[in-house]
Amino acid sequence: MTISLRGHHLLCLLGYRGMGYSEDFCVNMTNIYEMLRNEPGTEIEIITGPDDVCRAYPPDKAYHCEGNVYDLDEAVLAKLGLTVNERSSWQEICDRVAKRLIPSDISKLCTTCPWEKYGVCQEGVGLVVEGRPLPKLSV
Ligand code: SF4
Repeated sequence: MTISLRGHHLLCLLGYRGMGYSEDFCVNMTNIYEMLRNEPGTEIEIITGPDDVCRAYPPDKAYHCEGNVYDLDEAVLAKLGLTVNERSSWQEICDRVAKRLIPSDISKLCTTCPWEKYGVCQEGVGLVVEGRPLPKLSV
């Protein structure tokens, strides 16, 4: 199975701890998170625009999967040395995070994100940098 992800969601997944925009969104996000945590060899296809995370975004909330967020996708991919249409295992992406990011990069990259203030994404990058596992979440 291949998971399609846009640039910034590569980092959102590191900090995902069960918070999200709706119950359906969280079920989908938790499934992706746990699949990647348990099977780090899973293939990731880097795409532009709405991806396998966005597809569960609640239709009754203000849509934000287009627009300025593309800049964040590009910034994250540049930081990781990845390009759109590239395929890579989740493990290889985590290896890139470990080599190229430090936790404080999140506050520089994600200036417009409402989740940034919770610190979970910085913590997630820190775990990967230290070679420690991401926490298990209940599905
Ligand atoms: S701060 Fe927001 S955009 Fe940045 S990685 Fe976390 S959830 Fe994603």
